Amino acid sequence: MTQIEQSHPYRVRVALAVHLFDLIDYEISATHFAQAKIGTRIVVPFRKKQMIGIIVEKLDCHVPFSAEFQLKPVAKLFDEATLLDQATLQLLQWAAQYYQSPVGEVILSALPNVLRQGRPYDLLTFYWKITDLDGITLLKNAPKQLEAYQSIKLHPQGAPEAILNLSGINAAQLKQLEQKHLVEKIIRPINFSPKPMQLAQMPLTANPEQDLAIDQIRQKLGQYAAFLLDGVTGSGKTEVYLQAMQTALERGQQVLVLVPEIGLTPQTIERFRARFHVDTVLLHSGLNDSQRLQAWQQAQTGKASIILGTRLAIFCPLPRLGLIILDEEHDLSYKQQDTFRYHARDVALYRAYKQQCPVVLGSATPSFESLALVQQHKMQHLHLTQRAGLAKPAKFQLIDLKTAKKTQGLADVLIDAIREQLKKDQQVLVFINRRGYAPVLMCTSCAWQADCPHCDAHLTVHYHPYTQLQCHHCGYQQALPKLCPSCQSEEIKPIGLATARLEETLYELFPDTAIFRVDRDTTTRVNSWKNIYSRAQKPGAAIFLGTQMLAKGHHFPYVGLVTILDIDAGLMSSDFRAPERTAQLILQVAGRSGRGHITGQVLLQSLRPDHPLLQILVKHGYAAFADQALKERQLAALPPYSYAAMIRAESKQAQYNLEYLHHALNMWPQFGTSKLQVWGPIEAPMQKKAGFYRSNLILMCHSRPAFHEQLRLWWQWLFKQPRQHQLRITLDIDPQDLS
Ligand code: ADP
Ligand code: ZN
Ligand code: ZN
Repeated sequence: MTQIEQSHPYRVRVALAVHLFDLIDYEISATHFAQAKIGTRIVVPFRKKQMIGIIVEKLDCHVPFSAEFQLKPVAKLFDEATLLDQATLQLLQWAAQYYQSPVGEVILSALPNVLRQGRPYDLLTFYWKITDLDGITLLKNAPKQLEAYQSIKLHPQGAPEAILNLSGINAAQLKQLEQKHLVEKIIRPINFSPKPMQLAQMPLTANPEQDLAIDQIRQKLGQYAAFLLDGVTGSGKTEVYLQAMQTALERGQQVLVLVPEIGLTPQTIERFRARFHVDTVLLHSGLNDSQRLQAWQQAQTGKASIILGTRLAIFCPLPRLGLIILDEEHDLSYKQQDTFRYHARDVALYRAYKQQCPVVLGSATPSFESLALVQQHKMQHLHLTQRAGLAKPAKFQLIDLKTAKKTQGLADVLIDAIREQLKKDQQVLVFINRRGYAPVLMCTSCAWQADCPHCDAHLTVHYHPYTQLQCHHCGYQQALPKLCPSCQSEEIKPIGLATARLEETLYELFPDTAIFRVDRDTTTRVNSWKNIYSRAQKPGAAIFLGTQMLAKGHHFPYVGLVTILDIDAGLMSSDFRAPERTAQLILQVAGRSGRGHITGQVLLQSLRPDHPLLQILVKHGYAAFADQALKERQLAALPPYSYAAMIRAESKQAQYNLEYLHHALNMWPQFGTSKLQVWGPIEAPMQKKAGFYRSNLILMCHSRPAFHEQLRLWWQWLFKQPRQHQLRITLDIDPQDLS
């Protein structure tokens, strides 16, 4: 390789949204070098294209250096203002490294779309103001312009251009008025200074447990500390957050609050706005581009004091960050399951550590990862054991489905219990984790079942809005056959329960009761979830039935009975995390009941009521269950007592995957000496998805640093090798979903 003398001693190291593990160096002139700021955008050539990147480092090489390649020169600098501050860039680089993801893609993903696409980052707004001329007289023959003029006249200090545009006044009209000297354009910087914190509402009087928790968190403001706020549902975790936040806000700090679901943001933000007069913004994937830009800008400039968001908000630049709260920390949606597979909880812990602020993880059913950190004294355990106010803990009862009398899949005792509740004018929640009408379509003559041609899965029967079979894994749809494709029999029937069929059954059983169904099929319509939710805030008999959307943090103050219909799949699963997830789900659903002053009752119907998991959970609660299950994990050296990584191969034939993964595993010792526990290569539990066969190789190791270093070398090597058969490979660090 020839060594080329570089003409300039200055370089910038740039992040580009390309699938490479490294940042890319560009040559830059001395003048540009002086102007270039870290964290601003830059335009550079890459593979015959001009691309927008972010400057991550400036390299001032006074000693002339030589490189293996001629560096390309920078095309142009883009921003005056810094978009990503040092702390955020450092966080993103760490995350890219930890999750073995291409660093440029990771860094660019932290910008709102419009900035990534090259829209200017305005720190200015344009206003229009009338002049001294008498526009009303001058425009009497131009009614359209007069109308626009009058709208502007309503704002003596100037009307924001964006507002005028919204009310239908376009640029051309403004131009015409300007040419007649009737209006003038004013440019003002946007006011990004934060409002001082004011209480809108007095805090509740905290109970002693809450007091202790609030006090512990407050004492740690200004330094790193990790807390697990472990409180049964309804124990007032939110009040603890609010009072800890209050102190941070009074000190002029920003508070970042993460929740698992977009659906939970409106109700949470209402509670924050009711308590504090400060700028509060939402950041989640449901915002459109300009809403996202605005919210991000308010957070990034430091104007917004409370930032409430879903997992992606963990990477938002926050110049005054003083406290991080992660509610429902056990929730799986904190882990991104594709491309950049980060876990917002782990990123939050790292961020808090780097930015020296406390982080509070809240849950009624803490993740095993957090409980293990408590055992290792890396996290402080705060307990709320009492339900706030009058609410009492729920009572559990198991129903044996093998011996029970049933109607349409529902145990008769369960139906009677629902009837009792409705008679008392109370509400009932029926939980089933399957949407659609029935999970299987089967021929009763020959046992044929309708399967997805692209996945290793049955098709779900749907009757609304269309009568069809649907694959819930790849989206495949087909018409419902009239005859069995295998034996031509007419005896084909939907088998098993899912939400829509359950709704039908409940209508038949309780024709006079209001029944609300909550699943992805019913709540995609705008406002429908909002309507259901507001109905749940009023008393009066009603049944709410639905999938786990129901289980996520929502309040159902008038629900006296919760029934859980299908946990058997979770009990039977081979995934080592299945017991943890099942227990969390049961308690989260159960926690919806008895939140007012009604004592909650929880009925579980199961084919395995004697299952040890159910027994210990129902008799002794989550903590006892977790204790036992964690001991088992420790004995088997499973996470959280070891560190896992999963490499997955996908191709058109399972054989290709397995061959490839064996080869990859054979190469492992070339890159280090970490001792592994190896699972596989083996076909994934769901062998085929969307037309591709999938196979897994799971590696586990006791010591993280050595393991991750070896993984990094191995993976980067694998990634660069040519692969046959269009085989795709992905790496998941700390995988949560092994399916
Ligand atoms: P969690 O988030 O732990 O499930 P919430 O924070 O939603 O519980 O609190 C449940 C209910 O208890 C809410 O209606 C809340 O206003 C009330 N609450 C919380 N703390 C107190 C308190 N100290 N005194 C009176 N009511 C409280
Ligand atoms: Zn048949
Ligand atoms: Zn499918």
